[in-house]
Amino acid sequence: MAIATINPATGKTEKTFDPHDSAEVERRIAQAHAAAHTLRGTAFDERAGWARATADVLDADTDILAAVMTTEMGKPIAQSRAEVGKCAAALRFYADNAERFLADEPLEDPSAVGATRAWARYQPLGTILAVMPWNFPLWQVIRFAAPALMAGNTGVLKHASNVPQTALYLDGLFERGGFPAGSFRTLLIGSDRIEAVIDDPRIAAVTLTGSEPAGQAVAAQAAHRIKKSVLELGGSDPYIVMPSADLDEAVSTAVTARTQNNGQSCIAAKRFIVHTDVYDEFAEKFVAAMGRLTVGDPMDESVDVGPLAMEGGRDDLIELVDDAREAGASILLGGEAPEGPGWFYPVTVIADLPDSARLVREESFGPVASLYRVADREEAVHVANQTPFGLSSSAWTTDPEEQEFFADRLQAGGVFLNWMTASSPQLPFGGIKRSGYGRELSAAGIREFCNLKTVWVA
Ligand code: NDP
Repeated sequence: MAIATINPATGKTEKTFDPHDSAEVERRIAQAHAAAHTLRGTAFDERAGWARATADVLDADTDILAAVMTTEMGKPIAQSRAEVGKCAAALRFYADNAERFLADEPLEDPSAVGATRAWARYQPLGTILAVMPWNFPLWQVIRFAAPALMAGNTGVLKHASNVPQTALYLDGLFERGGFPAGSFRTLLIGSDRIEAVIDDPRIAAVTLTGSEPAGQAVAAQAAHRIKKSVLELGGSDPYIVMPSADLDEAVSTAVTARTQNNGQSCIAAKRFIVHTDVYDEFAEKFVAAMGRLTVGDPMDESVDVGPLAMEGGRDDLIELVDDAREAGASILLGGEAPEGPGWFYPVTVIADLPDSARLVREESFGPVASLYRVADREEAVHVANQTPFGLSSSAWTTDPEEQEFFADRLQAGGVFLNWMTASSPQLPFGGIKRSGYGRELSAAGIREFCNLKTVWVA
């Protein structure tokens, strides 16, 4: 895949980049490796100051950076600005909390293990490789980098090939905030060159956010070298609506949950599973609200949904919807890609899906929602759990017992009750089943790439 900015709203190639040759990759890994030695010797306070200054740089660059992101991957411009703000907040969150998350954990009763004192200490692993996707081109990287650098690790980034300008911006960002030179380096390389980077003894571990095939490849390469990996892969999150829910609220949140980021989010609600008592009303209101969204130029402030980021992604979506239609599903809204330039796809709602339709089990990475009618909460959970994914989930009910039921039974890394799934620096983020393993964000995220060292004193 060429390393290039191709504007998805026009399909035009705006800028191409030569990949880094092997000497340049070597130079950048060496810089990150050297910086890891420097950074682990710095104090939390010092790193917190740099992280806060990096957040200030992001704030100052918001407009210019948002325009770059929208040009490269097509999300509505206001959502790009919001993404920059979220990244600045995450940097400040880890500046405030990293020291507490990584504080020594003393053993309460050291005599039980024959020691006078014993404790566990979190220490950085070194240089971590991050393989990242284009859908949240800044956030996916910062949610790895903010905790990693605050822990005293350094990072090398292999970003998706369609967001090179965002990748190069990230290359300089942390140094502008004051972090030692080399603390974060971008490698402009194709995915066929990742294995050589993983093989490098100076790379301690790897994190990947992206598709299942990419995750399988990278995790296998890391496992072969006994290196730790964290995987954040796809999702087909359920969104359950029960009769006690505030239906209007459930409908308007469902629209946002399915269409934000042009529908290209791993934690987007994709399957809407509605109790039969409220199904018809939900479906009618949902289709009406989805139909009111405007699809168009993502630079236009009034547009709700921009184009899909890549032509191949749109082709995949067209195939999924065509498959559902041929299997006998009802297309309640949208479902036909428009003619003309750009990789636009209409906001689409599909119902009456037979079990044989691919959409029942596969992820739709675009503004396509599927509706399922269920008789009771047991059937809701059955339908919710019938995909191979387990990233997150949402359930709408005001009944406390039902809330507990869904919190307990949904097979996912998260359950959001009466709200859509959203990532926040405060909350652990990650999945089970084929959505991956490991956690990002919160205390769990910063500890993933630390050595939890046992210290025992006679
Ligand atoms: P990919 O998984 O192909 O890309 C994500 C990253 O992995 C990119 O940096 C990519 O590099 C790299 N990569 C791709 N293939 C390999 C490989 N074999 N070995 C090592 N690295 C690899 O995602 P796509 O952009 O193609 O999106 C397709 C699907 O991925 C979506 O439908 C969705 O299911 C999932 N996805 C999930 C995301 C999430 O947030 N969890 C985000 C984006 C996608 P390069 O760009 O050079 O190919």
